[in-house]
Amino acid sequence: MTWRVGQGFDAHRFVTQPADAAAQGVAADVASQPARRPLSLALLEWPGEPALEGHSDGDVAAHALVDALAGAAGLGDIGQLFGADRPEYAGARSRVFLEETVRQVHQAGFAVLNASVQVIGNHPRVATRRWEAERGIGQILGAPVSLSATTTDAMGFTGRGEGLAALAVCLIGRAQ
Ligand SMILES: [Zn+2]
Repeated sequence: MTWRVGQGFDAHRFVTQPADAAAQGVAADVASQPARRPLSLALLEWPGEPALEGHSDGDVAAHALVDALAGAAGLGDIGQLFGADRPEYAGARSRVFLEETVRQVHQAGFAVLNASVQVIGNHPRVATRRWEAERGIGQILGAPVSLSATTTDAMGFTGRGEGLAALAVCLIGRAQ
């Protein structure tokens, strides 16, 4: 049996809300703001939470996990797999990235054995939907997934509530 581990990290800033811009006296062109969509995190939508900027839907947990899986299987990273030179993935949801990465991991002869993802930030309260997120991601991976969350004691960009970060680790294996 061959085992391999992979790790991933990702961070995105929260989209500035039109209400914030208005409060600061800045003209907000609502039509140009992606802020109307809810936060996407761990393949769930979180109504009432600000969205994250960035490629795709900005799902830091899913993106970190894609990097962990891709790294473990020697597939490169999320930029290589789904970046600007792959226009067919422009605007795709993170679920699509994760499903395609798992497909390529399988194609390389590996099964996913488990994964652990940690979200770093002040909100949302990940624990309230931990089981739902673990079940959804686990169905795609075909393996147990652990989701945890932590704050940084008010330090750094996550502590100031400017954005979210995520760390992921996975173990994959194949019978040779
Ligand atoms: Zn990302």
